[in-house]
Amino acid sequence: MKNSFYANTEVIGLIGHPIRNSYSPFIHNVTIELKKLDYIYLPFDVHVSNLKNALKGMVALGIKGFNVTIPHKEAILQYMNDVSEEASIIGAVNTVVNDHGKLTGYNTDVNGIYETLYPYRDEITGKEVAVVGSGGAARAVIYTLVRHFRPGLLHIINRTEQRAESLKRYFREKIKYGDFQTHELFPPDLVDVFRGSKLIVNATPVGMFPNVDDAITTLQSSFHKDQIVFDLVYNPAQTKLLQMANINGAVTLDGLKMLVHQAAKSFELWTGEELPVEQLHKSLQLVISD
Ligand code: NAP
Repeated sequence: MKNSFYANTEVIGLIGHPIRNSYSPFIHNVTIELKKLDYIYLPFDVHVSNLKNALKGMVALGIKGFNVTIPHKEAILQYMNDVSEEASIIGAVNTVVNDHGKLTGYNTDVNGIYETLYPYRDEITGKEVAVVGSGGAARAVIYTLVRHFRPGLLHIINRTEQRAESLKRYFREKIKYGDFQTHELFPPDLVDVFRGSKLIVNATPVGMFPNVDDAITTLQSSFHKDQIVFDLVYNPAQTKLLQMANINGAVTLDGLKMLVHQAAKSFELWTGEELPVEQLHKSLQLVISD
C-alpha cells in the first residue's frame, strides 16, 4: 500500500453507507501502487442526510472524483451539473468526476456488464433472455442488453412484479424497445421462462454472503447446457445459482469481471490511466476465496 503522499497527491474515493465491505479501495489503491501514480483512494461513509453537504465539501476540497454506492446512486443525480446518457436513462450514477467544481455523473456498471457479455454477443442477439431484479443493477443490465446486444425478447422477473412492470413501461418509453415480458419471481412458474432463455442474469443480492445457500430458483431443471448464466453477485464468486447452472452444463459468469471492468472505466475517467484488469481479476479471485 502506498505510504508516501505529497502536496500534489490527488484524492479520489467512494461515498456510500455502509461501505466497509467494498472492494473498491483495494482495486484502486493497488492500481495506484502498481502504476506509481500520485493518487490515493479513500472511503467516505456518508449518511443519506449528509449527501448534499458531502458533495459541497468534496468540491471545496478539490477531490478529483469518486464512486457512489448504496444508498446514494439514485439520489445523487439531482446534484450533478451533467449526467452521461447511460446514467440518465438508467437513473443511477456510480461514478462522479469533479472538473474544477463541475460534477458529471456516469454509470460504469454498463462497461462491466458489456465486457462480461461481449464474448457471447452472437449467442445473445435475437434470443430470449431473462433478467431477475428491478433495482439499479437490473436497470444497467437491461440498458446494456437492449443497447448493445439486441435480444429478441427480454423477460424482467422480480419479487415485486409491479416494479418489473414499471421498468417495462419506462424502458419502452425511453429506448423505444418493446419486446419485454414481466413475471413475478415465483420459481415453480418460471421453469419454462428460464429454460427458454439463452441468457439468465441475476441482478439481485440473492445468494450473496452470508446467505450463500439461497438462489433465485431451486429448480435444477431451469438450466441446460446451451445457456449462459450471469450472476452479478461476486461474494462468493461461485454462488449457489452458478453451481446449479454448472451442474447442467451451462456457461457460468460471476460478478468479478464486471466489478473489475466498472472500476477500470471509473479509473480511466478520473486519471486517464488504464487499470490492470487481468492482474486485479486474479488478485480478487484469491482475496474473495479466502
Ligand atoms: P437494489 O437496488 O437493492 O435491488 C435489489 C433488487 O433485488 C430488487 O429487484 C429486489 O426486489 C431484489 N431482491 C432483494 N432481495 C431479494 C430477495 N431476498 N429475494 C428476491 N429478490 C430480492 O440493488 P442493486 O444495486 O440493483 O444490486 C443488486 C445486486 O447486484 C447486488 O448483489 C450487488 O452487489 C450486485 N452488483 C454487482 C456489481 C458488480 O460489479 N458485480 C455491480 C453492481 C451491483 P424487490 O423489488 O421486490 O424489492
